[in-house]
Amino acid sequence: YPIVALVGRPNVGKSSLFNRFSKHRKAIVDPTPGVTRDRHYEQVTIEERTFILVDTGGIEGDGREMMAGLIREQTMQAMREADVILFLLDGKEGVLPEDFEVADYLRRTEKPVHFLVNKVDSPELEQRLIPPFYELGVDTLWPVSAAHGYGVKPFFEALLETLPVFPESEDIPPDTISLACLGRPNVGKSSLINRLLGEERMVVSDVPGTTRDSVDTLLTVGKQPYLLIDTAGIRRKGKVQEKLEKFSVLQALGALERCDVVLILIDAGEGITEQDTKVLGYAFERGRACMILVNKWDLLHGDAKRQKQLMEEIARATSFVEYAPVLKISALTGAGVKQLLPTVAKIYKQYCGSFSTGKLNRILQDALEGHNPTMHQGRRLKFYYTTQISTKPPTFIIFTNYPKGVHFSYLRYLLNQFRAGLKLDSIPIKIILKERQR
Ligand code: GDP
Repeated sequence: YPIVALVGRPNVGKSSLFNRFSKHRKAIVDPTPGVTRDRHYEQVTIEERTFILVDTGGIEGDGREMMAGLIREQTMQAMREADVILFLLDGKEGVLPEDFEVADYLRRTEKPVHFLVNKVDSPELEQRLIPPFYELGVDTLWPVSAAHGYGVKPFFEALLETLPVFPESEDIPPDTISLACLGRPNVGKSSLINRLLGEERMVVSDVPGTTRDSVDTLLTVGKQPYLLIDTAGIRRKGKVQEKLEKFSVLQALGALERCDVVLILIDAGEGITEQDTKVLGYAFERGRACMILVNKWDLLHGDAKRQKQLMEEIARATSFVEYAPVLKISALTGAGVKQLLPTVAKIYKQYCGSFSTGKLNRILQDALEGHNPTMHQGRRLKFYYTTQISTKPPTFIIFTNYPKGVHFSYLRYLLNQFRAGLKLDSIPIKIILKERQR
C-alpha cells in the first residue's frame, strides 16, 4: 500500500485529521494482545483504496528539537520515504515564516503534495482565512476542519486520485523474495548486506527502487531470486554521506509494505532495545514474516553467561512473534551469514502456503474434538467451516455462530492447532472469525 505522510507544525491539528481518517480504518480481527503501540500510523481504506497514513509529528519528534528543525526533518523524511505528502497548515494562525520554508522544500519533490488549511469550518471562514495562504505559491488549497469534518470529503476524493498504483517491475522475476533489512543505525545493516553480496557465488544487479535515489539489489542464489530493498540508503553509503543517523519509522513502515520477509537486526553488544521491539511490533501488525538477527555475536565470544542472558532477554521481549527464527550472526566475520538466505527461503515457502479446504476442515474438526469450545453466557459456540482466503500471510476464515463469544484463549488454541497441522512454525498466520447462522 502507498504511504501517505502527514506533515505540519505542532498544534495545527494533525492528530484530529489523523483521527478523522481513522474512522475509515479497516477493522482487523487480531487475537494477539500485548503489542503496545502508539497509534501514529493507520491502515485506511476509503472507497476500496487502501493506504497507510503516518502522522510524522507523532513519531519522529522527541520534543526537544527546535520546532523549525523538527518540521524540516519531518518534511525531508516524508519527501524521501512517503508516496504522498499532506502538509497541514493552521487557518486560524495564518501563514508563518516556516510555512514558506516547508512549501519551498515541497516544491522540489515530484511526489503528490496536498496543502490543507485546517480550522476552517464554514464558507465564511474560508473566504476570510484562505487567501493569504495562496502566497505560498500553491495552486490548490484544501480548506478543512479536521475537528468538524468541513471540506474533508472533496479532499478525500482528490487524495484518492493521487494515490500511486505500483506497477510490477519488469526487471523483477515473479517468484522473487523481497527482503528488507531493518534496525537502528550502526547495528550493522550495511555490513551485513555487503557481506551477503560477497558471500556466495551469485548474480547481482541493481534495479531502481521506489524512492528517488534508492537502488534495490536483485540477487540470485541457485535459482531463487531475492530483492534486497534499499532502506536508509544502505547501499548508497560510502558513495554519498547521507545515511540517516536516526531511526525512521516512516521508512520502516514503507519497507514493510514492500517486502515479504523482514530481517530485524539486534546489536549483541547493546542488547535488545525498545526500538527493536517496536519495529517487530510493526512487522507483526502488518503480518510480515520476520527473522531476528543477533548481529555482532563476535563481541560476546567466550562469554557464555552473557550469551545465555542475551538470548533470554530477546526471547522475552519478542514473545509475541515467537515464530520468528532467531539467528546469531557476525557481519564482521561472516559467521552464521551462510544460513541466512536458506532460512529466508524456508520462511517464504511457508508464507506463501496454500491449503485445501478439505485439509483445513479436518484440522478444525480435530481441534474442536480435542478441546471443546466453551459456552459463552449460556450460549453454545459452534464452528461450522473454514477456508483459506489469502496467503502472505496465510489467512483463514472460520464461520461460527457467535464470533464475539469466542474467548481469546480459544482462538489462540485454534491458531496453534492450525499452525501445527499445516506445519507453519516460522511465520505469522491469521484467523478471522465470521458470523454465520445455520
Ligand atoms: P548500519 O548503520 O546498520 O548500516 O551499520 P554499519 O554496517 O555501518 O555498521 C556499524 C558499525 O558496526 C561499523 O563500525 C561496523 O564495522 C560494525 N559492525 C557491523 N557488524 C559487526 C559485527 O558483526 N561485529 C562487530 N564487532 N562489529 C560490526
